[in-house]
Amino acid sequence: MTDEPVPSPAPGAEDHLALDFVNSAVALPGGQFIDLLGTPESTNQWLFDRGLAPADAGVREMCVTQLRSLRENLRSLFAARVTGVPALPSALSAVNDALSKAPTAALLQWDEKTGPYRATPCPTNEILDRALATLAANGADLLTGPDAERLTRCDSAPCNRYLLRHGRRQWCSTRCGDRARAARAYARRAGAGKAG
Ligand SMILES: [Zn+2]
Repeated sequence: MTDEPVPSPAPGAEDHLALDFVNSAVALPGGQFIDLLGTPESTNQWLFDRGLAPADAGVREMCVTQLRSLRENLRSLFAARVTGVPALPSALSAVNDALSKAPTAALLQWDEKTGPYRATPCPTNEILDRALATLAANGADLLTGPDAERLTRCDSAPCNRYLLRHGRRQWCSTRCGDRARAARAYARRAGAGKAG
C-alpha cells in the first residue's frame, strides 16, 4: 500500500466535495484498496482536511459507518446518473435523510435509576450530522447542476473513481490513462497475433 499512494484528486473533485467523498474508497491495480475512511482517526482527518470537523472531533466507529453508508448511497446515485438507469429508492431516501439532518437536538433519554434526561447519543453527533448534510447536499447539487452532464466513472479498470469528463478524457489520473492505453495496445497486439 505504501508504494501505491492515493492518486491525486480526480478532475472535478476539487470543485465538488461530493466527488471527493465518493472517491474516498479507491480500488487500485493488483487488488489493492485504499479507504480514506478506513478508521475513525483517518475519517476525522479526512473531515478536518475539508473543514467539516475539528481535528479532535472524536469520531467513532459508529460515525464512520454512517459516512461510509452515505458514500455508498451517493455512489449508487452517481452510477445511476452515469448509466441512465433509475435510482435505487433506498439510496435516494438515504441521501435525503442525510440532507435534512439539521444539527440534532438532544434526545430525551430515560434511565431506570435517574429518570428522564436529555443527551445526544454521541458527542460528535452534531458535527457528524452537519458533515453528512453538507456532503449529501453537495452530491444533490452535483447531480442536478450543469456539471452532471460531465460526470463519469473512470474508464480504467479496476479504478472506481468518479470524475468530471474533459473532452474525451475518461480517466481520473495520468496513471489510469497510461494503464488504459497500455491495455488497449496489448489488446491490439493480441488481436493482430490472432489474425496473423
Ligand atoms: Zn482512475
